[in-house]
Amino acid sequence: QQKTHFFQNMSHELRTPLTLILNPLEEASAEHQEDKRIEVALRNSRRLLRLVNQLLDFQKLSAGKEDFGLEPVNVVKFGRICGDYFSSSCSIKKIAFQTTLNGEPLTEDVDTPLYVQGNLDALEKIVFNFLSNALKYTPPEGSITLAIGEADGRIRIRVADTGPGIAKEDQQKLFQVFSQVDDSTTRDFEGTGLGLALAKELTEKMAGCVGIESDLGEGSSFWAE
Ligand code: ADP
Repeated sequence: QQKTHFFQNMSHELRTPLTLILNPLEEASAEHQEDKRIEVALRNSRRLLRLVNQLLDFQKLSAGKEDFGLEPVNVVKFGRICGDYFSSSCSIKKIAFQTTLNGEPLTEDVDTPLYVQGNLDALEKIVFNFLSNALKYTPPEGSITLAIGEADGRIRIRVADTGPGIAKEDQQKLFQVFSQVDDSTTRDFEGTGLGLALAKELTEKMAGCVGIESDLGEGSSFWAE
């Protein structure tokens, strides 16, 4: 209990100075866009903040302290909000994006709600992790689909992309803490290696499960049920 308290305080204590580093860096970066040193510092402070936030999430989860109330969440509305949020980032990167419901495009006129017993905050973290990974790894001219479907009374939320895909032998470890397929220090993409592990923990807290379907060169499809 005491240990938990300590880690939680630590994470909070880390966040404050980090925010105070990030804000002036954001300003400096806007003023000196050509300065690569500022860019590197900014990128890495963002990464550190993400890591601290994810550690805090983990800590809350394992301490069982997270207020994990389950309530009916309308996944149709939820999907639309996630979609709205990501479609502009996708169009900036020239990636086609669509949201579907039971295989059909989720258009404005679809208004039948579909409920899952879940936790909105957790669902958001899970789907945002899948979507931001897809956005990170999918090259321009590719496409990303956020698919919501119902089968046998369960809801499955899937994010499929046309990115590089992941070899079968690398798939098992993806959902483990600090696992990155390419763990060299010169990785093309910087991440914390915590996102998918957190998504798994959160899904399991809602009595669900996560999975992946992918192969090298075939794109990836991550789902939570
Ligand atoms: P992070 O992205 O912060 O490194 P994650 O746990 O979210 O951590 O992802 C772990 C690893 O899984 C990534 O580093 C990457 O190698 C791989 N990965 C995740 N999503 C995708 C994707 N959509 N396409 C290809 N590789 C992916």
